Amino acid sequence: MKKRASRAAATRDTAGVRSLIASLPKTEIHLHIEGLVSVDSIWSLIGKHKLDLGIKSKDELRQRFHVTSLNEFIDLFINIIQACFLTEDDLTYLVEDARTYLTRNNIRYAEIFFAPTKLIKNGLDFDRMVERLDQGAEELRADGLEVRYIVDVSRGFGVENAMRNLDLTLANGSSNIIGLGLGGAEQAGPARDYQPVFEKAMAAGLKVVAHAGEDVGPESIWDTIEILGAQRIGHGISAIEDQKLMTELARRAVPLEICPTSNLFTRKYARTLEEHPIRAFYDHGMYVTVNTDDPTLFGVDLDDEYMRLYEAGIFSVPELLQIMKNGVFATFLPEQRKAELWNAIAAAVSGSPFADVLPA
Ligand SMILES: [Zn+2]
Repeated sequence: MKKRASRAAATRDTAGVRSLIASLPKTEIHLHIEGLVSVDSIWSLIGKHKLDLGIKSKDELRQRFHVTSLNEFIDLFINIIQACFLTEDDLTYLVEDARTYLTRNNIRYAEIFFAPTKLIKNGLDFDRMVERLDQGAEELRADGLEVRYIVDVSRGFGVENAMRNLDLTLANGSSNIIGLGLGGAEQAGPARDYQPVFEKAMAAGLKVVAHAGEDVGPESIWDTIEILGAQRIGHGISAIEDQKLMTELARRAVPLEICPTSNLFTRKYARTLEEHPIRAFYDHGMYVTVNTDDPTLFGVDLDDEYMRLYEAGIFSVPELLQIMKNGVFATFLPEQRKAELWNAIAAAVSGSPFADVLPA
């Protein structure tokens, strides 16, 4: 049945698949709010704050957004983007860019990372930032776009800073903040150091996730599931080097937030899409989801991520639908809401020429 369905899908044209993907009300679970900022917003903020970042025109800024290496990406992120947010009101730009991105990709529900540390260092107040983000969530809801936030603490700033951000989050108590995530360069410090932070977050009822196995080997992923108790893994692609880990991740059904284009920038475990372990993970029965990480910085939309996997012949349409379904059921929403979101996708597929390839 599955084989027949795949062949049926393969005979359909690429434009048809693209319009199907675009039409489906999707979810995304690995997305950094600073990573969806637009050139227009950054240009406006440079003007607003009269910043001298050595960029003379919007065209020059647009060029800087066309990053072609990880170093260029890091330079753009730290020296330009993060340097532009100097008041809580500046977050309004991020909310508006989120609206544009989510609408363009027909993403109805997203769990978005928000990294407060650098902004606090820029002089912003945590509670006032959250107030602005809460207001943003409310404004987006009016457009049928639902978002929740995950506070992203970076390994680069250390354990003490992570604990401080957790304490600020707990004291604030916003219902839009549903979790804590460990991010930043894996090389900067092992996940296990953050065990007390994760334990406290979980005890307080927050969900916990961690970037792992993006830039460091499988031991980093073992630590995040065994020691931190992470409920989802950001990337996790170095698991390809450890069959036992792959089997364990499949057995525990730990969702992997895979961001193919981002991984090709890192160039650590895949240099081409064909080399990417996502297919091997899927075949191993692992819980694979597809995400963008930092869409405007990598110049990729969520719809493109799905399309590229299809066009490269890595996944068939029914398999992509299964991955989209995983993306719904890997969210931290209540079961009832997950079922509603999946039913909305299923209904859209049913009404399309692809009705016969809907996963069970
Ligand atoms: Zn990420």
